Amino acid sequence: MKRRPVIAGNLKMNRFVAEAVALATEFKQLVSNATHCDVVVAPPFTALRAVADRLEGSNVRVGAQNIAREMAQGAHTGEISGDMLREAGCSHAIVGHSERRQMDCETDAIVNSKVRAAIHFALIPIVCVGETLEEREAGRAEEVVRTQLDRGLAELTAENVARIIIAYEPVWAIGTGRTATPLEAQSMHAFIRERLGVGFGSEISQAVRILYGGSVKPDNISELMRESDIDGALVGGASLGVSGFARIVHYNA
Ligand code: PEP
Repeated sequence: MKRRPVIAGNLKMNRFVAEAVALATEFKQLVSNATHCDVVVAPPFTALRAVADRLEGSNVRVGAQNIAREMAQGAHTGEISGDMLREAGCSHAIVGHSERRQMDCETDAIVNSKVRAAIHFALIPIVCVGETLEEREAGRAEEVVRTQLDRGLAELTAENVARIIIAYEPVWAIGTGRTATPLEAQSMHAFIRERLGVGFGSEISQAVRILYGGSVKPDNISELMRESDIDGALVGGASLGVSGFARIVHYNA
C-alpha cells in the first residue's frame, strides 16, 4: 500500500521565538514545492503561536513536543492541554519521546492517556517507541517495542489508530550520530506493522505511517526511505539547520 510520507522536525528545547520564526520563514520557502510528503515542525511551546502564524497558508504543519494527559482545564500546573495546543496552531503532538520517558518518568500508561488526549482534541499524535542499547543487546528490542505499543495504544479503537503516526526511535540512535541500518530499521518497522495488524486489523496496519528517528541526516534519509515499511522520519538535531532539514524533506530529489 502506498502511504503518504511524513517528515517531522523536533526542535526540542532549542530556539527562542524570533529564532524559531526565522527558521520557519526560511524553511517554508525551501520546502514549498514538496508535494510528495507531509511536513511538520515542532518548536518549543513558547514559539508555537508565532511559528504557526508564520507558516499559515504553507504546506508545513506545526506540532507540539508534548501534550497534557488531562483533557479538562484545571489545576495542572505546567501542563498544556490539547485544546490549548490547537488554539496555538498545532495539528500534531509528539507523545512518549524517549527523552520524556527517561527524564520525566513517562510511563506507557501516561503515554496512553496523552495519545487519547491528542485524539480527543483532533490532534495527530506522533507516538514514539524504541528500545535502549542494553535492551537491544539483550535481544529484547522487539519485546520492549511490543510492550510500548500494546500499552501505549491500549483500548484505542481501530478508527483512533488509523489517525496516529508511530515513530520508531531506537534510544541508542538518538543524538548519538549512530543510525540504525536501513535493514535494522525496516525489520522493526515491519514488526510494528505486524503488531498493529494483530491489534487493529491489517487494513489499519497497512495505512498507519511509521517514521524512523535517530540521527537522520541529509545523507542517510534516502536509503532509509527506500525501505518498504519506513514512511518518513522524525528528525531531531538535523532539523535545527534549515538547509539540511529541507534537504531531508527533499530526500527524493
Ligand atoms: C529525536 O530526538 O527524536 C531524534 C531523532 O533526534 P536525533 O535526530 O538528533 O537523533
